[in-house]
Amino acid sequence: VSTDIVERLLSGDRRALARMVTLIENESPAAREYLARLYPQSGRAQIIGVTGSPGAGKSTLVTQVARELRRRDLRVGVVAVDPSSPFTGGAILGDRIRMQELAGDPNVFIRSMASRGSLGGLAAATRDVARALDAAGFQVVIIETVGAGQAEVEIVRAAHSVLVVTVPGMGDDIQALKAGILEIADIFVVNKADRPGADQAAAELRMLLSLAAKQPKSPDVWRVPILKTSATQGEGIAEVVDALFRHRAFLSESGQLARRNQRQVYSEVLALLQHALAQRLKQTVPDEEWQHLIDAVVERRENPYQVADLLARRVGLSDPNQAGV
Ligand code: GDP
Repeated sequence: VSTDIVERLLSGDRRALARMVTLIENESPAAREYLARLYPQSGRAQIIGVTGSPGAGKSTLVTQVARELRRRDLRVGVVAVDPSSPFTGGAILGDRIRMQELAGDPNVFIRSMASRGSLGGLAAATRDVARALDAAGFQVVIIETVGAGQAEVEIVRAAHSVLVVTVPGMGDDIQALKAGILEIADIFVVNKADRPGADQAAAELRMLLSLAAKQPKSPDVWRVPILKTSATQGEGIAEVVDALFRHRAFLSESGQLARRNQRQVYSEVLALLQHALAQRLKQTVPDEEWQHLIDAVVERRENPYQVADLLARRVGLSDPNQAGV
């Protein structure tokens, strides 16, 4: 029997996966080594981001979508992310009571994550958890956020397909779904369509989207579908899953998936590099020295360019001008 967490995770051991997620959340140095070994086995899952105002029915909808995916015999991971509340060491978001019926299914894995420290850290941890689920053989990974703020947008940006959930009678709310949300939405869902005003909400969205669209007729442009659901009744769910698969196919066939992957790898490596540099600076330059340097610049005894050059040399960038510092 192998005790290696990576091997166990790859062979479908849930406890190894749960342990891995905890290591990622704790930013354990071991996690990085394990993730490096898992990496070649990842890249197969479809990563779906779900965002929208609190109370729009995201978690009800995600539960239904997960059930539909199970009906189609796919293994589903759900990561519920709350960037606004601090990590409490336990289940957040009530651990999604609605999802409990799914929790007993060995082909479903549900986990909540909360913020600890920086948003960049949470976004990276979410991506790494999705990657671990992907490597563990979950074919669809859903990242669900609690709200629709800038932090949530940042988190779902790493997904292949972003689903934005709205409800009828939120005309003002839709206006408030600033350009940021319009831009990231691959699929709009008007949930609670059992209530009056769903058609109007859909029409309003269609208008906002056509105002924002640049070349709506071009075949290379994804026409964002606006779907109506009633998550509590389980209505419209199969259409949402169909649209998610169509989007995935569109991404591959149009070449956008490849471009997206390129962009994401570039920004991930850049972020890792920036993090390493910041760590190195913290280790090599004590706080009091920072203070001296800052005072010197404020008092015009030094200038910011000189100080940046000096610090760049201290962290081992031998030719700071060429390095762009
Ligand atoms: P979230 O905060 O976006 O995750 O929303 P929840 O999934 O927690 O749902 C918020 C409330 O809306 C709950 O009371 C749900 O039962 C209710 N709800 C969710 N979907 C629907 C729907 O399609 N129709 C109606 N009438 N209520 C719904």
